Amino acid sequence: MKLNELTAHEALAAFKAKTTTPKALLETVKNAINRTEKKVNAFAHLDEIPYNSKEDAKAPIPIAIKDNICIKDYPTTCASHILKNFKPLYDATVISKLRESGANFLGHSNMDEFAFGSSTETSHFGPTKNPWNLDCVPGGSSGGSAAAVAANETIWALGSDTGGSIRQPASFCGVVGLKPTYGLVSRYGLIAFASSLDQIGPFTKDVEDCALLLNLIAGHDEYDSTSAKIEIPDYTKSLINDAKGLKIAIPKEYFIEGISPDVKASVDEAIALLKKKGATFTEISMPHTEYAVATYYILATAEASSNLARFDGIQYGLRSLPKEQRKTSLIDLYEETRNQGFGQEAKRRIMLGTYSLSAGYYDAYYLRAQKVRTLIKKDFDDAFKQFDAIITPTSPTTAFKIGEKTSNPLSMYLSDIYTISANLAGIPAVSIPCGFSKDNLPIGLQIMTKPFDEQMLFRTAYSYEQNTDWHKKRVNL
Ligand code: GLN
Repeated sequence: MKLNELTAHEALAAFKAKTTTPKALLETVKNAINRTEKKVNAFAHLDEIPYNSKEDAKAPIPIAIKDNICIKDYPTTCASHILKNFKPLYDATVISKLRESGANFLGHSNMDEFAFGSSTETSHFGPTKNPWNLDCVPGGSSGGSAAAVAANETIWALGSDTGGSIRQPASFCGVVGLKPTYGLVSRYGLIAFASSLDQIGPFTKDVEDCALLLNLIAGHDEYDSTSAKIEIPDYTKSLINDAKGLKIAIPKEYFIEGISPDVKASVDEAIALLKKKGATFTEISMPHTEYAVATYYILATAEASSNLARFDGIQYGLRSLPKEQRKTSLIDLYEETRNQGFGQEAKRRIMLGTYSLSAGYYDAYYLRAQKVRTLIKKDFDDAFKQFDAIITPTSPTTAFKIGEKTSNPLSMYLSDIYTISANLAGIPAVSIPCGFSKDNLPIGLQIMTKPFDEQMLFRTAYSYEQNTDWHKKRVNL
């Protein structure tokens, strides 16, 4: 196996055995990027960041960082024209933590503009391709991170998940992707989309790496007022291959019309395997699931419209002046900058969000959506009184063709139907590989647990993964 195809835990073992070095690994990964990047376009910016020569480094592993996580002095643009040339003055907390562990940043991975999307097609830097089939999308919005891991252009990566943007691309690219509990990982230095839903999380080749990377980034941060003050366990201790006695719920609302037969078959097989290993399964109803997409698109766009108000041509990135000389007021500068700087989808979301927050419609939309959010969360609270975990498909389909959904935003929004509820409820959720479709595209299994029970999440995921080979498949590009 080539060095760049290793998992992080395999690489760390190789460093220990002195069969390779962190520098050699980084070199191999960079060569892989040179060979593959033209086909995949996983990166928005490849940065020549000086080698991290920290001594006694815990994890001197190359990593790709989604383009909405600030790295001091290196362009961080949310794949948007409006943040062109923006270089943050500080590191995100996750970046400082990774620097401490000896990480080597390869650059910023591609994404949908401002993380609005499910396909990585709205990036100012052009679409990312799915390494398993270059005609297909890698999912989104963290499609660059998922594709970079799947294409072996990095060992692991960070993404952000507001409504599924880590899990859905992980599922489409055949890698592991975790959205941690809201508040477990600091959002300081993550350029905000919807602050009550956003979480940073890992993309890895297997579950063990996922636990390792979460160990490196989790923990309380005084710079993030929503960061939880809890003791962080060593998540690798939860890598237990034992499903005996696990009580798992299957919500019937997740197996409805629209789910592809290949996805359904693979998820059914995964359930059968866990049953054989001693878990018990019960079908349950989560009656408010059907309102999740509508609720999410009201709340997420409302928060986005407010968060994006800061991009005005004064403080960050692009500044555009109207062409006609007579138009030079401050308002004109704002308008021209935002008109030139934001893409279609960003403008659509600013309009939607501003509308539902406006005086005449606030009660009917925003306030009502908040109430439904509470009901959706209650569905989960009730389920976790009786069950250790909930299992569903990550996405109703496998990766779709590039261009297939760009003209129909609603069909794009529906591809998050299974992932959105976890963000609304604040709970942790992971997608792990569980098979391939007939046309050889990866399928993902989603596991959810109660808030701050990432340990149960890892145990369930590991008990499945260790009895399968899906996570060992490497793409041949
Ligand atoms: N696809 C969803 C959206 O477009 C989720 C995006 C995300 O999680 N950042 O909003």
